[in-house]
Amino acid sequence: MKIIMFSVREDEKPAVKAWEERNGVEITTIAEPLTTETVNLVKGYTGICLQQRVDIVDEEIYRRLSGFGIKQIALRTAGYDIIDLPLAKKYDLKVTNVPAYSPTSVAELVVMQALRLIRNNPIVEDQMAQGDFRWGGMIAKEINTLTVGIIGAGKIGGTTARLFKALGASVIAYDPIVKDELKDVLTYEPNQQSVLEKSDIVSIHVPLNESTNQLINSEAFTQMKPDAYLINAARGPIVDNSALIVALEQNEIAGAALDTLPNEQAFFNVDLRNQPLPDENLNALMKMNNVVITPHIGFYTTVAVQNMVDSSLGSVLSILKTGVSVNEVQ
Ligand code: NAD
Repeated sequence: MKIIMFSVREDEKPAVKAWEERNGVEITTIAEPLTTETVNLVKGYTGICLQQRVDIVDEEIYRRLSGFGIKQIALRTAGYDIIDLPLAKKYDLKVTNVPAYSPTSVAELVVMQALRLIRNNPIVEDQMAQGDFRWGGMIAKEINTLTVGIIGAGKIGGTTARLFKALGASVIAYDPIVKDELKDVLTYEPNQQSVLEKSDIVSIHVPLNESTNQLINSEAFTQMKPDAYLINAARGPIVDNSALIVALEQNEIAGAALDTLPNEQAFFNVDLRNQPLPDENLNALMKMNNVVITPHIGFYTTVAVQNMVDSSLGSVLSILKTGVSVNEVQ
């Protein structure tokens, strides 16, 4: 058995090596994604593992994989929209994902940003960078006095709720699916509006789909308290960022932390030093000292990367040995 992994980053290599040694399976890693140019590299391998932004839309790629005897495509990500599932099915390629590599990784980022916002830390840091060490007007709030509202209490939202609860916050949530195991941690509200109206910190954890695109829009901002903060570590288009900028400018809310933005492929994980920012909204948000932006690093911890590698390679092994995997997406 020999596995080829595409788009492998340096930080994944130790996890890959450890898995290779534990399982006695030969693995080749390459930095490039799977495309029509690289697909011939798969010849001679029994399994493949991918993680890439480039969509695999060309039927020729699926046809050649099948021709090389490949039976599966293991993704090291939760999302699987880069794959054309009907084409994968047509060529008998089973597709697997990693549904939960580390909810704690994203949840801890959210807690960190919430604490930074309520301590006015971005404003304090901004002033100090200019040599102003005064703290008048910077009086902060303690998390144990606040209500945190979770929109979407799934794997990450539920974990985030547990962390905030452990810090003494009151936690409320809206999710159409009520989970008994979260009832000791949070109180379910009947709808999104009541979460927005009651919360001092609103954290978004819904998936991006047609019904959640721009879920947090100008109407939602009018429902939030003027001293409340918004955190989005889910997907950029869930928040209408033009409306967010207006809400921040008109003091409808106190600030925001964003780990994800619409069109982020154009700038996140890209070195733009000494270059103009390619997005008007990003430019406006970067100038606001009550907004903290991180370049989609919620998932990026040693534990999460290790889990992405272990789980995806485990799925390759499972499909090759038994024909099935619990992580199949079709
Ligand atoms: P999940 O499927 O476990 O949970 C999502 C929850 O949202 C579900 O319980 C669902 O019932 C609920 N939901 C759906 N529509 C809703 C609505 N309109 N209102 C309220 N609740 C709604 O997903 P997850 O693994 O917890 O991921 C949550 C989000 O985090 C996703 O958007 C995902 O893409 C994102 N994510 C971000 C990072 C990062 O690095 N920042 C990493 C992984 C995942």
